[in-house]
Amino acid sequence: MPEEAKRRSAYEVAKAQFLEAAKHLNLPEDIQEFLLTPKRELIVHFPVIMDDGRLRMFTGYRVHHSTVKGPTKGGIRYHPSVNLDEIRALAMWMTWKCALMDLPYGGAKGGVAVDPSSLSEGELKRLTRRYAAEISILLGPERDIPAPDVGTNPRIMGWIMDTYSIHKGYSVPAVVTGKPISIGGSKGRIDATGLGVMYTTRETLHRKGIHLHEVTVAVQGFGNVGSIAAMAMHREGAKIVAVSDVHGGVYNPNGLDPFDLKRHVDQAGTVATYPLGDPITNRELLTMDVDVLVPAALEGVIDEELAPEVKARFIAEGANGPLTVEADKILLDKGVTIIPDILCNAGGVVVSYFEWVQDLQSFFWTEDEIRRQLKRIMLTNFDAVWDQALVKNVDLRTAAYTLAISRVAEALEARGVYP
Ligand code: GLU
Repeated sequence: MPEEAKRRSAYEVAKAQFLEAAKHLNLPEDIQEFLLTPKRELIVHFPVIMDDGRLRMFTGYRVHHSTVKGPTKGGIRYHPSVNLDEIRALAMWMTWKCALMDLPYGGAKGGVAVDPSSLSEGELKRLTRRYAAEISILLGPERDIPAPDVGTNPRIMGWIMDTYSIHKGYSVPAVVTGKPISIGGSKGRIDATGLGVMYTTRETLHRKGIHLHEVTVAVQGFGNVGSIAAMAMHREGAKIVAVSDVHGGVYNPNGLDPFDLKRHVDQAGTVATYPLGDPITNRELLTMDVDVLVPAALEGVIDEELAPEVKARFIAEGANGPLTVEADKILLDKGVTIIPDILCNAGGVVVSYFEWVQDLQSFFWTEDEIRRQLKRIMLTNFDAVWDQALVKNVDLRTAAYTLAISRVAEALEARGVYP
């Protein structure tokens, strides 16, 4: 059996996390089952004409986990390992993330099993437009609003907005967030997730009497989340000693300059060849002796085999689901403070919400206003999680989950079950 298949799927991890949190809530079993079950799941197989003129079939997904609190929200992922179980897990995590930030949304996720870097620009555009058309029966500003995730970006969101709009016969900017600013995107959206990772890390450290300028940090992943988080923490004085991506990593005990690293990545396509440091593997990065570890790549990267080796005292989950359930337990037992994904990386969906509101009103905010509101929402809910952890005497993930789940359960109670 391949290694992957032996491991619990991301969906099983997501369900286990829910059930762990539910132990601390007075939720009847039937309500738990309702909250665990994805509302609708669409699988599409569709053709794309490749540059050589031949047709190739692709498989895509869009899962709506919950519509209890409003239209569904969540990104679209392009990655070769995308499958239904992964998208289900990611959709469920969006439900809790949106509820935790008190946004009027349910959770969704979508994806296509493809390596986007293997496609030409034209192929990527045709794949995106066809996938968007295939899932358009589920989309709409009042229905389901996608956004970028691993392997997608503002340009791809622009094509989705255009495809949906062409079919409608008029422009519908609010159907997708994370778009280019010229077509209704929001200022501050690109930086939002990484900035939120910095805010929640800074806040967690403060509660322990530590400042960002006193800590060393290792960041796994140098995409939209990892690179911005590294820059934001560097700006606050943290020493970024290691960074990695899918090709490998780089280590410098005296600190790396993430802005210079970014310039290198823009040219070379990877951090692994950065000359001002020593090459390291991803495993070495994850087990490095640092104060703060930021896994900002994919789910399941720290499992029960790796967890005993982890030396960081704080883990800031920039990625969704980077720890398996077993790893989470091992790390908590070791006294590691884990800032859970649904809190740590929620900055992206918070500014997505601002983008949607701005599009619906056709009135756009300044970057200052966006930063101010992002900080307000993240820190208000950070406080709520911290207090919940103290009151219930639980870790931050369980605290975040119990808060989020009880908000959705309260909305379900208010709506009732039809008919
Ligand atoms: N893909 C991001 C996430 O996992 C953003 C979702 C959104 O903005 O809707 O939170």
